[in-house]
Amino acid sequence: MSAKVWLIGAGPGDPELLTLKAVRALGEAEVVLIDDLVNPAVLEHCPQARVIGVGKRGGCRSTPQEFIHRLMLRYARQGKCVARLKGGDPCIFGRGSEEADWLAAHGVASEIVNGITAGLAGATACGIPLTLRGLARGVTLVTAHTQDDSSPDWAALARSGTTLVVYMGVAKLAEIQEGLLTGGMATSTPVAMIENASLPWQRECRSILGNMPQDADTFQLRSPAILVIGQVVAAAEQRDAPLALTA
Ligand code: SAH
Repeated sequence: MSAKVWLIGAGPGDPELLTLKAVRALGEAEVVLIDDLVNPAVLEHCPQARVIGVGKRGGCRSTPQEFIHRLMLRYARQGKCVARLKGGDPCIFGRGSEEADWLAAHGVASEIVNGITAGLAGATACGIPLTLRGLARGVTLVTAHTQDDSSPDWAALARSGTTLVVYMGVAKLAEIQEGLLTGGMATSTPVAMIENASLPWQRECRSILGNMPQDADTFQLRSPAILVIGQVVAAAEQRDAPLALTA
């Protein structure tokens, strides 16, 4: 009989942002598959486990996703408790449900454990209240990078009245800017670009929509980074202390 696979969100980087459930699952794990973007510091919760790095730099011949699927299956079928650690939340641009479905199709049960997604953690670490009353009627998590290379409808998003939190946007700043301006978003709309959110080496670049690509260039913004676009970013500038303590 195969054992269960835990698909665990490891949060954005700060190991203290791990949930208690994630810590419990890690404590049960015999094999841990860890993604590139996961802070290895969280491995302190599974000293008993065999740890296998399965990030893009995994160095395997097959595609990383196939390789990961097969590893999970192999160990689960050996009856070993497998924990798959993914950055942020497994189901926010993280293929968590695809992996769960694939495992189910192969007769293996899995359970997804939420993690704190980078967009939420980055905003809080920079003092940005994403849905501040009167300034935003919601928040949209959106990726700039899709498998089929299509773009989100930036113009529609500009009109949504929600704070935009953009994942995987570093290489597409000019395109995002153009789409949002076309949708009528003001050039003066405040923007925060947050690199390595929640980690001690987190960096934050403040800008406005009209200067976003140039400012990111000067700042030498690098992935992983999220963009927060909307009036709520200015609310943080008026605050003395951040909403949360950073490590
Ligand atoms: N499942 C993850 C997202 C994976 S997609 C989550 O919920 O956070 C990878 C993208 O997430 C990166 O390109 C970047 O946009 C964002 N990201 C992940 N970790 C980050 C971090 N510590 N700081 C800023 N952005 C991060």
